[in-house]
Amino acid sequence: MDYVSTRNKKERVTASQAVLQGLSRDGGLFVPTQLPKLDKTLKELSEMTYPEVAYEVMKLYLTDYTEEELKNCIKNAYDDKFDTEEIAPLVFADSAYYLELFHGKTIAFKDMALSILPHLMITAAKKNGVKNEIVILTATSGDTGKAALAGFADVKGTKIIVFYPKDGVSDIQKQQMVTQAGDNTHVVGIDGNFDQAQTGVKKMFNDPDLAKEMEAHGFQFSSANSINIGRLVPQVVYYVYAYTKLLKEERIKDGEQINVTVPTGNFGNILAAYYAKQMGLPIDRLICASNENKVLYDFFGNGVYDKNREFKLTNSPSMDILISSNLERLIYRIAGEDDEKNAAFMKALSESGVYEITPEMKDKLSDFYGNFADEAETGAEIRRVYEDTGYVLDTHTAVASAVYKKYREETGDDKACVIASTASPFKFTRAVMKAIGKDDAAKSDLDLTEDLSTIANVPIPKAITEIKTAPVRHTTICEVDAMPDAVRSFLGI
Ligand SMILES: *Cc1c(COP(=O)(O)O)cnc(C)c1O
Repeated sequence: MDYVSTRNKKERVTASQAVLQGLSRDGGLFVPTQLPKLDKTLKELSEMTYPEVAYEVMKLYLTDYTEEELKNCIKNAYDDKFDTEEIAPLVFADSAYYLELFHGKTIAFKDMALSILPHLMITAAKKNGVKNEIVILTATSGDTGKAALAGFADVKGTKIIVFYPKDGVSDIQKQQMVTQAGDNTHVVGIDGNFDQAQTGVKKMFNDPDLAKEMEAHGFQFSSANSINIGRLVPQVVYYVYAYTKLLKEERIKDGEQINVTVPTGNFGNILAAYYAKQMGLPIDRLICASNENKVLYDFFGNGVYDKNREFKLTNSPSMDILISSNLERLIYRIAGEDDEKNAAFMKALSESGVYEITPEMKDKLSDFYGNFADEAETGAEIRRVYEDTGYVLDTHTAVASAVYKKYREETGDDKACVIASTASPFKFTRAVMKAIGKDDAAKSDLDLTEDLSTIANVPIPKAITEIKTAPVRHTTICEVDAMPDAVRSFLGI
């Protein structure tokens, strides 16, 4: 199976090349030439561990990796970096199954993919005869940077350089990044905002002179951002795992349909659920939950994607997004895999910030249901679920939970539902404690985690206890214009 660009089907690469390259040269996203079907029965899969299911799913997408290569990547990713052998436990609370995707190093779901991407990448480099060391450049507004750092730390053959706006991330996020261990990790605060950091990184990626200079010293850039197919494919795994776990525990019958609710920003996580459905996993509705930045809710309602609106800062910051990059893969598919049509929509998006799909395309969206929860509804949901069940949701998961409640009230559909639980409440302690009515303004965010631990009856995760004592290792601050020099200095060129 090959991968083609959503904007030009003639751009055709192997799976490993797609992982290495990240984005297609024409700006399009790589998609598989056809979506594979599961080749094991649900019953067979239900007897497997997480790494075994990971292999059964990923082998169908990453077809040019050998069995040994892929199993090796999986083994290196899903090990005791996770604080539970289950990797992604399923917890029944209230009236849904919360799929906890936050048991990795940075206690958010991005660890699920970023713990395997580095291994997929160095394997891809070997397979394609790339001798250069891979240098990952990332601009971050907080979460992705830390998850990427944790994933690439001490992975041989790679270096990672993360730029963050020095006054634009939370104290805990900053502390997490500047204490990052690993001889190959570099973290730089920039005198500027996230957009400037992002633009600076893009400029370096597209600078042919810098690329030549890098090549001469045995380096080449790559990207770990969420449009890389090497991040999408590992996310399909946990939907299959969740279903088969429900089956094994006899919560559902073989073949019975379930619903899935996903708190959505860049549309990567829910797209993975859509791919799982296309592979034959019995999923009925894909419930797309947005916060007050509800571009996707409007899109599913009227077929118009319109990013021209006020950007809102919410308590679920990882969903504060107006351009959901991974939606392009869905647009391409419902356009009948028509690359020219998709390219025209994306051109309209970049030129005017808006496009409207055709009625035929809209008909193909019936798998999806979109809704949103505002800040008050999200807080109320955290409190309600806590008071009813004792289970504490983080702010992102609470958006999903509140939207699922609306869905049930609107449709009466009470199929078993898996809610993707994308972050630990300890990552957003202040907002969570406020919602429950147990905030203490006199305490620091870190101290407040002790109170949360008591009321939730959950130990404080290692990701939090570690940063309290870890030494600061990264102190570099630079001007936006000096970003390339910071890179040169780290690489010693
Ligand atoms: C990234 C993120 C999301 C959004 O996921 P997408 O794949 O971008 O839609 C939701 N919740 C948390 C905690 C995240 O970190």
